[in-house]
Amino acid sequence: MENNQQTPIKTTTKRKKVIFGSLIILAVLGIGAYVFWQYQQKNIIAPTGQQTTYAKPAAGASAGSVQEARQEVEQAVQEKLDAQQKAEEEAAAQAAKEAEEAAKAGKGKKVAIDPGHQGWNVDMSAKEPNAPGSSEMKAKSTSGASGNYSGLAEFQLNLDVSLQLRTELEKRGYEVLLTREDNNTAISNAERAVLSNEWGADIYVRIHANSSESASAQGALTLIPSSGNPYAGSQYSASRALAESILASYCSATEFANKGIQENDTMTGINWSTRPVVILEMGFMSNQHDDLKMADSAFQIVMVQGIADGIDNYFGN
Ligand SMILES: [Zn+2]
Repeated sequence: MENNQQTPIKTTTKRKKVIFGSLIILAVLGIGAYVFWQYQQKNIIAPTGQQTTYAKPAAGASAGSVQEARQEVEQAVQEKLDAQQKAEEEAAAQAAKEAEEAAKAGKGKKVAIDPGHQGWNVDMSAKEPNAPGSSEMKAKSTSGASGNYSGLAEFQLNLDVSLQLRTELEKRGYEVLLTREDNNTAISNAERAVLSNEWGADIYVRIHANSSESASAQGALTLIPSSGNPYAGSQYSASRALAESILASYCSATEFANKGIQENDTMTGINWSTRPVVILEMGFMSNQHDDLKMADSAFQIVMVQGIADGIDNYFGN
């Protein structure tokens, strides 16, 4: 039983030694770890404690500067990849733009538009040959009709529609020539046709509006040369195809009556044309329905779309 009393004393002393020893070892390990950590920090943190930028790798570079060099190489490679990607994207955008231009219906096609007549102040009563080399003389141009209900002058309606048609056709990729751009230009019917010929028009579209003694006459029609026309007869087939195409889509768009194609060899502006030529009589200014519709600027947009669609269809688009 004595031994039993002394044994706990010895055990307690031994345990204290073990704990003390362990604490010493832990303290040494802790200090060692702290010193090691400080040493590591000094390699990447400046002595002032402020973060510094990486220095250039020097000869006999340390582990830190090798890392810096690697980062610089990686950055250079990334920049090159970015530049390459940008160049590829730009090339793709350019190709898409070119494809879009090429896909436009009117690409490379030339349309001459003649807004019929001119202002009442312009005297065009002097005469000119009705056809090349012909002894038959006709007035250089006439003054045109006017709206019985709208009061609108035909020369103004023709110009308004023609200017909008030019804008629409250019949007579709066509090259467009107007024989006149205002109401004061003095240009004869023969001169207009020659202008279109010499410009190299693929088609010559003459914009007019009709008038009749009968107030009930209404609808659109076209005029073309006959196949037997000694001057413009060679343009007959193409002119007929053009007239059919324009009339069909114009009447479809406007819901105007389709009065068909008339062959006419008495018109100076047709006889002088060496290009496929058509006169579109858009409607009757002597008819209330047609006159008021054509004078409406919102409706003119519909008319222009119809004519432009007809031209697209003629060229097979
Ligand atoms: Zn007219």
